[in-house]
Amino acid sequence: LSRFYETLNLGNGFVALLSTEGNILARGPLVPGLIGSTTANTARFGAKLRQPSGAISFRAPLTGVEYIASFRRLQDYPLIVEVGLDSDTAFRQYWSLRNRTMLTGVAVTLAIGLIGTLWLHQKQRSVASRRALTITLETISQGILMVDARGRVPVANRRALDLLELSDETSAVAGKRAASRATDLARRDAANSTHMLPMTGSEATVEPSLSSRFETIRGDGSIVEVRSHTLADGGFVHTYTDVTEQRTADAQVRYLAHHDVLTGLANRVKLQEYIEEFLDCSTTAQSLTAFLMIDLDGFKGINDTLGHAVGDDLLVVVARRLQALVREGDFVARLGGDEFVIVQSALDQPEDAARLAQRVLQQLADPVQLGRHRVRIGASIGIAFHPKDGQDGEALLKNADIALYCAKANGRGTFRTFDVEMTRAVNERRLLESGLRQALDNRELEVHFQPIFDCKSLQITGFEALARWRHPTRGYIPPDAFIGIAEDCGLINRLGRWVMEAACTVAASWQPPCRIAVNVSPLQLRDGGLQDDIAAILMRTGLPAELLEIEVTERVMADDNKLVMDTLDTLKTMGVHIVLDDFGTGYSSLSYLQRFSFDKIKIDKAFVQGQANDRGVRVILQSILGMCRKLDLPVVGEGVETQQQLMMLRSCHCNEVQGYLLGQPMPAESVETLLRRDVRERCQDGASPAAPIKFELAS
Ligand code: C2E
Ligand code: CA
Ligand code: CA
Repeated sequence: LSRFYETLNLGNGFVALLSTEGNILARGPLVPGLIGSTTANTARFGAKLRQPSGAISFRAPLTGVEYIASFRRLQDYPLIVEVGLDSDTAFRQYWSLRNRTMLTGVAVTLAIGLIGTLWLHQKQRSVASRRALTITLETISQGILMVDARGRVPVANRRALDLLELSDETSAVAGKRAASRATDLARRDAANSTHMLPMTGSEATVEPSLSSRFETIRGDGSIVEVRSHTLADGGFVHTYTDVTEQRTADAQVRYLAHHDVLTGLANRVKLQEYIEEFLDCSTTAQSLTAFLMIDLDGFKGINDTLGHAVGDDLLVVVARRLQALVREGDFVARLGGDEFVIVQSALDQPEDAARLAQRVLQQLADPVQLGRHRVRIGASIGIAFHPKDGQDGEALLKNADIALYCAKANGRGTFRTFDVEMTRAVNERRLLESGLRQALDNRELEVHFQPIFDCKSLQITGFEALARWRHPTRGYIPPDAFIGIAEDCGLINRLGRWVMEAACTVAASWQPPCRIAVNVSPLQLRDGGLQDDIAAILMRTGLPAELLEIEVTERVMADDNKLVMDTLDTLKTMGVHIVLDDFGTGYSSLSYLQRFSFDKIKIDKAFVQGQANDRGVRVILQSILGMCRKLDLPVVGEGVETQQQLMMLRSCHCNEVQGYLLGQPMPAESVETLLRRDVRERCQDGASPAAPIKFELAS
């Protein structure tokens, strides 16, 4: 049997036949000494006995080779067949496969480890950035909300929920409601094209059809700006910004740019816009529209003397009165300072504008109580009509301004309607205005002196200083033509001071000493500094205060101004005489006599001259003179041109007279001659009148 086994090619393997007692009966290949040997005492044999078949591994005791063998016990014989292969051969393929598998396993494990680490790292980073994003979303002042195509809300910050008025909802409900509310908004945005605002600047780079911006007003009135961006998958992203403050500020800025803060009226900018709008509108262009340019008379004086706060209050009252006067649809604006404009549209006839102007004048003439001050103010108005007087806002306002200028030049408190002739007159006045400034600089002004006489003795008692403008090309310009201009353009104080200084300087040198009367504008008195100016001038020139008279007109008394009264009181205390000039031309002359104790009054030449032909005037003149005599108030009659006028005044016990009959205004040099001659004449007979000195006013 062993020899048969030898023929089998078993490589490094073997086939053996064993008895159930463990003796090796046959084996191939044959190993000498093995046949007949027993395996009964080996562990391997124990296993064979116990099982009918199986596999074992063992080490050959002789060769030391490791074998794997499989055995089977024969059924009908007490024999065991065992076939074995040395382990190396049996496992060669296995080992190589195992090695390959293990290598692959290690490589795969390494790769997985690497990928895992990377993934973990990535995950950590994404968690961190997600956390950063969450913090960012929760801290920014804008609300952000993303709604995907299926209506879910993957991103929404608290601010978004706040602005969508969902902050009280639980997070699960809030998400759903936010989605539906945002979808609603998006739908409204799409439906209502007026919501869409044009994109500007960098935003314009986003495809416009995908992005839009609109505003929505919440229940509490706050304004939320929504920027919507449609996503490719059909969802959208909304950002919400509370722009209430911004819009309020914008509105405020817009309001301030278009309104006068003090009065709340429209300002110049708004007026321009209004005019442009109205001119663009062809239907209104056909109808008649009036532009009333209103300027307050004497506002500067009030502002300067009572302070800007009172001035401001006055402007507010004026604005209110104007507003109350106009119809709905008319437009009132304040151009600045004390200038107002009313645009009165859709007129039937020009007279309607005149009527409104009249009403404005009446309303503004009413005294205004401002704190403890009772202020009286007037106004002048210039009117221009569209389309007659101009086709654009600039021309219309300019022409209304020209008409206003004429109204002022015509004594204020009136209105004038523009006509082309006015432009020339206004240019002329403007020329004088700029000329007057230079005249003061270039010493083109002069003071002339008109003698005042004792009515009975006809001796000179004093002189009135009268300003003259010696114009380089036009000759002498009379004061009536430039005093008003000086008052309007703020030169009157400078001019007044100059006249005062010049008059006092000349008068201080007169021998024998004579009184000098200087005219003072109401504006100088309202300025508040007149008494100091006069005190300084008296000091400089050495003229005794008792020789100075200041002549004020009833205009001074018209507004019951405390500062004016205080100034007059101070001057009187200083010894300066206060004379009420042009008495009788105002309305309430008599009441003025009660309010201030004047040293003298001057009866206006209109009475002196008018009495000759008008009995009524004569009676008034006589009454005034009689009353003043009773009050012990000296009276000067001015404008005496005829013997009759002189006689009349004499018969009524007038104290002093002044007029061309006795002496015209003359330059300082002539005064000296006159005074010397007067003294000589007085020495001779003491009663003859000073011969009228012929002095022609060059103009
Ligand atoms: P007024 O104060 O009433 O001055 C008298 C004016 O009557 C003077 O005119 C004088 O020349 C004029 N006059 C005198 N006698 C007669 C006469 O017999 N017949 C006529 N028809 N007129 C006579 P004048 O110099 O043209 O001054 C006009 C006005 O200008 C003055 O009226 C006065 O209100 C104002 N004025 C003149 N100088 C000054 C000044 O320095 N300061 C101020 N604030 N006003 C002045
Ligand atoms: Ca006078
Ligand atoms: Ca006078």
